[in-house]
Amino acid sequence: MAAAVFYDGLAAKPRPVALRFAADAVEILEGETVAARWAYPDIKRLPVEAARLRVRSLGAPELARLEVEDEALAAELLRRSPQAEAGITTDRRTIARIVGWSLAAAASIVLTTIYLLPLAANQLAPLVPAALERRLGEAVDNQVRVLFDGKACDGGPGAAALGKLVATLTSRVELPLAAEVRVLDTAIGNALALPGGRIYLLDGLLRRAESPDEIAGILAHELGHVARRDALRRLIQAGGSSFLLGLLFGDITGGGTLILLGRTLVDSSYSREAETDADRFAADLMVALGRSPQPMGALLVRITGTQRDMPLPFLASHPVSEARLDALKARESPATGPPLLTEEEWRALKSICKAG
Ligand SMILES: [Zn+2]
Repeated sequence: MAAAVFYDGLAAKPRPVALRFAADAVEILEGETVAARWAYPDIKRLPVEAARLRVRSLGAPELARLEVEDEALAAELLRRSPQAEAGITTDRRTIARIVGWSLAAAASIVLTTIYLLPLAANQLAPLVPAALERRLGEAVDNQVRVLFDGKACDGGPGAAALGKLVATLTSRVELPLAAEVRVLDTAIGNALALPGGRIYLLDGLLRRAESPDEIAGILAHELGHVARRDALRRLIQAGGSSFLLGLLFGDITGGGTLILLGRTLVDSSYSREAETDADRFAADLMVALGRSPQPMGALLVRITGTQRDMPLPFLASHPVSEARLDALKARESPATGPPLLTEEEWRALKSICKAG
């Protein structure tokens, strides 16, 4: 058995490692290779099961973890990083507060987890504080970006146009968390909402869009998922009971679980009910702005028609069904409000990933 196990924070794979204590940092060794160096002052202990020491480093990726099995090594690491346990009391207080939302809720969560997880997700999601959801969102964010291998396109007139569009859309709705929209530079045509209010619009969708209303409709649909906290529900469902218990009792961003969950967010689909609700939310919002909900449907059809063979199941996260398109058609209303973007702003948004 290895003395310690290392998660690099990017892949879910546990790596058996040895430790070497240098003067200023612990060196994490794979054979002869130094996989990582963690400066002693950066090391923080994570409040998990007492059987072994589990730490992260403020200087390493958010999800990087080191688990030390060997007792002597664990003691030596703590001796050299005396501040490692300083935050734990705070964390304990946070946990106490989380558990304190309602002891009854916690008990019912544990019970329903065992019997019916989807139900548990629906019951738990409204109880999760916004700050905790935001932290979860940040933790999966990296994973999602790695999956799409795309850099965020920000800056320039395209970003200003996007900001205007998002501000217009969000001015008409109440959301549990502030929404933040980013464009990722990838040819895949999709959009997705993460827990915590972040929405990714993939550039492939922008490239195929023919009007601001098409993109506005898609963003409004994603805002509908934010309003329903659907991404959080899906994380809870996919993560299973260990994730739920982790959420309640300790290290919510722990280990490999969340890395797998990032993929789940991208690959799995929402329920038909969630999609119908998000579409209704989008249609209401577009109509309130005096714009038609129809173009969103047109964009979805255009993309599913051309992208059937994408390696990533296309729009798996938002399956397009006849019923959805019919429902959108039924909400058709003439565009009486002002255009959401000027011609110039629209051109800038379309080329947001080409600038700079
Ligand atoms: Zn959707």
